[in-house]
Amino acid sequence: MSFSLGRISGITIRIHYTLLLFLILVVWSLAVGYMPQQYPGLPQGSYWMIGAASGLLLIISVVIHEVCHSIVAKRFGIPVRRITLFFLGGVSELPEEPRDPNVEFKTAVAGPISSFAIATILAILWYYSMTAGHPPELAAILQYGASINGALGAFNLLPAFPLDGGRILRSTLWRLSGNMVKATRSAAKVGIGISYLMMFGGFTIAILGGFFSGLWVIFIGLFIRSGAESGLSQTIISQALAGTTVNEIMTRDVTTVDSNLTIEELVDEYFLRKKHAGYPVLKGGTVVGLVTMEDIKDIPKNRWSQVTVGEVMKPLRRVATVEPEVSAADVMYKMSRMGVGRVLVMKEGNLLGIVSRRDLTHLIHVKTELMQ
Ligand SMILES: [Zn+2]
Repeated sequence: MSFSLGRISGITIRIHYTLLLFLILVVWSLAVGYMPQQYPGLPQGSYWMIGAASGLLLIISVVIHEVCHSIVAKRFGIPVRRITLFFLGGVSELPEEPRDPNVEFKTAVAGPISSFAIATILAILWYYSMTAGHPPELAAILQYGASINGALGAFNLLPAFPLDGGRILRSTLWRLSGNMVKATRSAAKVGIGISYLMMFGGFTIAILGGFFSGLWVIFIGLFIRSGAESGLSQTIISQALAGTTVNEIMTRDVTTVDSNLTIEELVDEYFLRKKHAGYPVLKGGTVVGLVTMEDIKDIPKNRWSQVTVGEVMKPLRRVATVEPEVSAADVMYKMSRMGVGRVLVMKEGNLLGIVSRRDLTHLIHVKTELMQ
């Protein structure tokens, strides 16, 4: 759903395909609609040039906004691994929730402040360029840059968690109550309230004749609502997993299979008889890989008696492994990033245990029930 753009100070910047679609829409509507109205009498090629440059400026603006969040987060010791840019801004992937409300507040305001600062600089340059009689193409690009940065700053200040404004709201409530989960619940509720207001407003606009603007507002409302819901569950999950290490939750007596076992034996004696959907594979006493139902799905049934586990398993270098001291939250992160259902817990080449997605959801369930 996204591709990598490059790295800035150790952070991978990725672009989500929605931003590309949005970009094409922006370039096109600027080139054929907005710019010819605002700056009439220019050759058609100029409008496309202005559109393309404005699109590029939009991406750069979003990147700067997100990088500013990340720089502040890093300064407080929260490592940022990657940033994914969406059409309305970005999401900096923080592996953990901020530890205190002040850090969250400072990290959150950094983005809008940078956007407003860029907007101000570009507005001054625009004014200068207008009065100095520079080519109108330059003025058009500067004007667009100033307004898009202003809009980016203002939109992200909406108090709808997990937008920046919502994070500012959460950190304030958190500071007042001392309870992070409660503060998140309230901030998410405000976010969901705002999203319904926007959907209602969008609907009204659409009925009153502004069909596309109305649709646009409804769409942003939907976007905010899903963000608030997933932001809330993410907080609850990472809160539930906080302070627990793999060592405490892993299954210790792991059922392993030998690499010489045939698929037929594996299915009959393991998959059908036991409850696990994946088994570490041993060869001469050492772990060499992992076999899951996924690995045998494509092998035709009539060959099950000839093919061995060793031939179809995932070799160890491609298997997700962790050390026992790793936190449960990090394992969750690793599983979702690698798209796997279990990780092997290893230390110096020895298999100590296994952690499955089910272990984590069970822990989350118990902890959230007890936290109520
Ligand atoms: Zn932001």
